[in-house]
Amino acid sequence: MTENPYILLTPGPLSTSPTVREAMLRDWCTWDDDYNLGIVTPIREGLVKLATSIAPEKYTCTLMQGSGTFSVESMIGSVLPQDGKLLVLANGAYGDRLVKITARLGIDHEVHDTGELAPPDLNRLEETLQNDAAISHVVVVHNETTTGMMNPLSEIAKVVKSHEKIFMVDSMSAFGGVPLDVAELDIDFIVSSANKCIQGVPGFGFVIGKINEMEKIKENARSLSMDLYDQWQGHENGNGKWRYTSPTHVTRAFFQAMKELDEEGGVLARYQRYTENQRRLVEGMKRLGFKCVLPGKHHSPIITGFFNPESDKYDFMRFYTQLKEKGFVIYPGKVTGIDSFRIGTIGHVFPEDIDRLIIAIKESMYWKE
Ligand SMILES: *Cc1c(COP(=O)(O)O)cnc(C)c1O
Repeated sequence: MTENPYILLTPGPLSTSPTVREAMLRDWCTWDDDYNLGIVTPIREGLVKLATSIAPEKYTCTLMQGSGTFSVESMIGSVLPQDGKLLVLANGAYGDRLVKITARLGIDHEVHDTGELAPPDLNRLEETLQNDAAISHVVVVHNETTTGMMNPLSEIAKVVKSHEKIFMVDSMSAFGGVPLDVAELDIDFIVSSANKCIQGVPGFGFVIGKINEMEKIKENARSLSMDLYDQWQGHENGNGKWRYTSPTHVTRAFFQAMKELDEEGGVLARYQRYTENQRRLVEGMKRLGFKCVLPGKHHSPIITGFFNPESDKYDFMRFYTQLKEKGFVIYPGKVTGIDSFRIGTIGHVFPEDIDRLIIAIKESMYWKE
């Protein structure tokens, strides 16, 4: 077994367990039952159960090849009808990506951009939905991975659903690591990927959607290979079979990752571990004099932004390299205009790892010498 030279404190791909990586060490046939009935079907069913315990019979799961963005693009490009109009609530780089996808697909849209430091504006949302009857769908990022901001999903859902709009959520970096019931919030479509909180390796994403809404999206898709409806029908009619070659090893690793999520105690237990990771991180960083980009009330257990130290001697890449040599990979800031870096607290990472990280950071503060 190959040991990792460092742990990834990034928002995905992230550090995985040795047993998840080991699960990839054999080959599978994409049309055989061992793979489709033995692995793909339980994954699809398991993901629906993770998404909702109150109404799993109303939802279905479709897997899609590619990184998470491919699944987001598949969802938007397949769900929006030709005459649909999408309202995008954006407050970071991943919200901006939703806008880019929508524009590239030629879909009519409007954007509410509140900037990286503020959550979506609920009053403005209410007003827009009241005044613009053309808006048929609303999309938002759950945990905005740019800053680590946890957006107030249930408040947003209440407004969107009171106007009977279709509600789509990019929960890429939160799903499986933050408790949520899609049926309770009446979410129509939610998207995530293999290599975030479920702690698989990268290679596919998935869309969990209401069955009755999935039935309405036939022939909407603006792409052949990313046609969500077609892919769903492929799964449904082929015992889980994907259209076109699926990432078999990645899928098998994901099956193991789901088993390990269950063994850990499920989403709540994982959420508690991530929360403890992040609590120790913020506490330790503050002790060392670092300041958080966001106020504590907007923090998520997923990733946290810190301002770069104000010192002429400080250089992020030098700091980064020193930490990497000590066994930790952190993430550059993605916040435009804010001089910061980020540290993720998800993956096969435990509170003791964070304690070791804080020591390593203390030893790497060369600009203080
Ligand atoms: C990681 C992530 C994505 C997808 O990124 P990929 O690099 O395509 O896997 C999308 N949205 C959010 C919020 C993310 O955190």
